[in-house]
Amino acid sequence: MISEKMVSLVKNSSVIRAMFEEGKKMAAEFGRENVYDFSLGNPSVQPPKAVTDAIIETAGNPDPNYVHGYMSNVGFDEVREKIAENINRRFGTAFDKGNIIMTVGAAGGMNVIFKTLLNPGDEVITFSPFFGEYRNYVSNFEGRLVELAPNTDNFQPNVDALEESITSKTKVLIINSPNNPTGVVYSLETLQRIAAILEKKQKELKTSIYIVSDEPYRELAYDGVEVPYIPTVYRNTIVGYSFSKSLSLPGDRIGYLVIPSEIDDYGDVFAAAGVATRILGFVNAPSLAQLFVSKCLDEKVDLEIYNRNRELLYNSLRQYGYECIKPEGAFYLFVKAFEPDDRTFAAKAKEKRLLIVPGSTFGCAGYVRIAYCVDYDMIKRSLPAFEALARDYKRC
Ligand code: PLP
Repeated sequence: MISEKMVSLVKNSSVIRAMFEEGKKMAAEFGRENVYDFSLGNPSVQPPKAVTDAIIETAGNPDPNYVHGYMSNVGFDEVREKIAENINRRFGTAFDKGNIIMTVGAAGGMNVIFKTLLNPGDEVITFSPFFGEYRNYVSNFEGRLVELAPNTDNFQPNVDALEESITSKTKVLIINSPNNPTGVVYSLETLQRIAAILEKKQKELKTSIYIVSDEPYRELAYDGVEVPYIPTVYRNTIVGYSFSKSLSLPGDRIGYLVIPSEIDDYGDVFAAAGVATRILGFVNAPSLAQLFVSKCLDEKVDLEIYNRNRELLYNSLRQYGYECIKPEGAFYLFVKAFEPDDRTFAAKAKEKRLLIVPGSTFGCAGYVRIAYCVDYDMIKRSLPAFEALARDYKRC
């Protein structure tokens, strides 16, 4: 008999994953080219060639114990040093290996940091819409996720709601920019306003409130938009970075946490995060992946491929009467559903073989997410279905 908690988790298991599986079934029934699967944020752009070269070179290292052996739970020293130098060069920080912990992607990093920080009942605030897995990551450690209402005008975070949502139990504010599911990049000014509120409340409540900046999409920003580096804006910031999207390596499960020396209780936090890495069963991030990504820190995927998808889908949908803001980053469009019930709307889209994810999954009912990290030709083939859906709702 499985645990009661797991019974409900299985029952409410990821809508996105369920759709992905459904898409595979539909492809078998109707033919792959007749199903338009926009459900999963699985990068469609190839990793740079330098990455595949680095994988081969690293795997060929004659010292198998070095490449494949156990190591310090926080990761290889030399990999962490290289990552620190890379961040310092880009953002003018002064990190070293003592500020970096290698993780099993962003998901692994967030679980490690929540295990490190949360007592049962501690509150973690997130701006809606947000990546739905935060619910699980927080409840894994008996924290309470506090969801702030979305600001549907432009999907910038609802800063006005932040101050009154902070209590003596608030431990973390999650920031995710570029954002999944909206593609919005939070401006420096917005982040400064957030920082000012947190600083004020920390003093008032005599507590530490950490920002956990979840950054798998940091490198995916279009039109030269800057993504501010939050540790330079707010002292108590811990960054969760991932190579899943930046180098198109989601299956390799590699990322890192940045734990600046300036945060409150730095020594305890760093030590505890190392132990959390071990006792959550990760032990350490995959060794081969640590080594090969450290050779590719300046590499980038071809963003123009996503940009072309973004332009085609955004312009076409607008033409058919869909409402959405133009995303500045990541690879998602967050579109207003043509009826209040986003689940019914997504089900109607499915009848046209369009797989899109209801916004309520992201804490924002009445919208749907369309992941455009897909083949350009699939987007082209899908357009008549989007148009027909709009026509069914008399929007065009
Ligand atoms: N955070 C956000 C906002 C995401 O969209 C994702 C994956 O889609 C993750 C975290 C998890 O990323 P990773 O594959 O690096 O664990």
